[in-house]
This record gives sequence, C-alpha cells and structure tokens, in this order.
Amino acid sequence: MTDHNTPPRFPLGFFPTPLHRLHRLSGRYPDYQLFIKRDDQTGLASGGNKTRKLEFLVGEALAQGCDTIVTAGAQQSNHCRQTAAAANVAGMACHLLVRGAEPKEYTGNLLLSKLLGATIHFCGEEIRAEHSTALLQELRASGRKPYHTPVGGSTLTGALGFAEAARELKEQLESMQLQMDYIVFASCSGGTQAGLLLGKALYGLEPSLLPVSIEKTGLGSQALEETVMAIAEEGRGRLGIGKAFDPEDLALVRGYDEAGYGVLTRAEKEAIRELAALEGIFLDPVYTGRAFHAMTDMLRSGRIEPGSNVLFWHTGGLPANFHYGNQLL
Ligand SMILES: *Cc1c(COP(=O)(O)O)cnc(C)c1O
Repeated sequence: MTDHNTPPRFPLGFFPTPLHRLHRLSGRYPDYQLFIKRDDQTGLASGGNKTRKLEFLVGEALAQGCDTIVTAGAQQSNHCRQTAAAANVAGMACHLLVRGAEPKEYTGNLLLSKLLGATIHFCGEEIRAEHSTALLQELRASGRKPYHTPVGGSTLTGALGFAEAARELKEQLESMQLQMDYIVFASCSGGTQAGLLLGKALYGLEPSLLPVSIEKTGLGSQALEETVMAIAEEGRGRLGIGKAFDPEDLALVRGYDEAGYGVLTRAEKEAIRELAALEGIFLDPVYTGRAFHAMTDMLRSGRIEPGSNVLFWHTGGLPANFHYGNQLL
C-alpha cells in the first residue's frame, strides 16, 4: 500500500504488535480458544490504536508541508495524547480542542497531553466546527501551517493504518500457523473498523469482525454505521477495491453502549478485574473494558459460536484508569 494513492507512512510505533494466546482466560471459557492482539503496546507514549492512524496522518501532514497538528476529543482522549506525542516525534506543534472546562487537577490522558507540551483549548460542553475553524484561522494568521484531523483521527488517511494492520495480522497468523474465526474490538469514531474492513478486502483477512459499539449516539448527527460506510466507500474508490460494501459488512455489536460514553458501570469494572486477575493485562474503563465485557458476555451466551478461535484486539487506553482512580475499585 505504498503507491501514489496513499500518503507516506511516518514511523511512530513498534510493529508488528505482539499476538498471543490467553491461556488462563481460555481455561475459564473452555469452549473457546482466546487470543489477544497487543495494540496497547504500540510504544508511543503508553500505546494504543491511534499510533497506527497517526503514522499515516503525520505522514500526510509532513508531505503537505504542515508544521502544526490540530485535533479534538474528550478530556480523557487517548487520541489527543497520542497525537501530542506523535507531533513531538515529528517536530511539529500540537493544538488540542477538548470538551469541558479546564479542571483543577490534570489527570490521566489530559495530564500526559499537557506533559507532552500540547496547547490545550477547553471548548465547553460541545466542540463545534467554529472552534476548529477559528483556531485554524488564528494559526494561519500567525504564519503556521496547520494540519487538521477530526476526533479519533477517523479519516480515510487515519483508517489506512488499520488497513495495514489487517495485513500485519494476516502475516502474523500465517507465521504462527493460527486461524481466527472472530476479531472483537471497540469501535467509536469508526476509523479502526473502516480500516479493518478495507484491509480485509485488500488482503483477504478471513476472520469476521465483531466491532463493539462504545457510544450509543455516534459522533454529531451521524450514526457510527454511516461514518464507517463513508470512510470505507471512499477507501474502496481510492484503493481500487471492486466489490461494494454491504451494510451487513459493518454490523456493529450493539446493546453494550446503553450507559453512555465514558460512564463506568459494573460491566467495565468486572472486565478490567477479570483480565488483570487472569492474565496481568490492563484494559481501560471507556473502550476496551466495555468491548471485553461484550466479548465474555457473548462467550457465555453462545452468541459467539462455541469451538471458535476468538481474537480480542486490545486498542489501548491505560492512562484513563488513573483518571477514574478509586471509582474502579
Ligand atoms: C479511539 C479508541 C478506540 C476506538 O477506535 P475508533 O477508531 O475511534 O473507532 C478504541 N479503544 C481505545 C482505547 C481508543 O482510544
């Protein structure tokens, strides 16, 4: 995927990320073989799935001669933290538009973004288009060349990182002589899911995707399904994939997103404890805790066919645990 249709990849992480069996967890769900893909170990400022997207986003920004990255997110955004780190590696400035008011105490991801030196703009209840438009204008007026990427870095350029990840996984499974039936992962701004869909089509990756919806309402006015379809269809054109995507190809696992974004329930707390207790691996309270709970619930209910090999794609998020603190106990 290094032809003229795709931006250059700027190296930021350690790839391939490890893939390994979860021995003790598989013992608890004996009808299944359970595995994990460790994107919590991408290596950039405590890791996570945004590192893959940022390799292409930063690559494109540099190719366009930009010197500043602008992005947006929640205060505990893993994407903002990784973008701040990526900007440092590339020698660029970073401006973050975040929801809410400046807190008295910086914690978790917000603390790390601050330590990384990003300029943080607090936007109140809602981050609107005017916020980014005004900031971009201001930066241009002061002689900077900003590169703007939306919440989660979920543009086609960002999603290319996960099309590449599909190729990485395919090669890894072949060299380990493993076959997976399902891949379970958290889906929220859609770039991870759209990228994996594109990569499946491009490289013939076999397992079915089980993307777990994290935020019930989607971003802005668009349902997550529409966002994923829009990125995937744009990518199909750009990458020359013949067959159109079917709405069925992007079916989300719904029903675990009822509590709302970032709301910690028993489900996430138990998931974090379960994986920590059995495998010494930390999930996060917002994304992977919720997706992992969905997976174990589908294992218990048999909604995932017994006898399957199931891969949990760990997308990171560790620092948010230090924001939620004692609520996790
Ligand atoms: C952003 C994020 C996701 C969701 O990925 P999208 O591409 O936004 O759907 C999942 N897990 C973690 C830890 C994240 O930070």
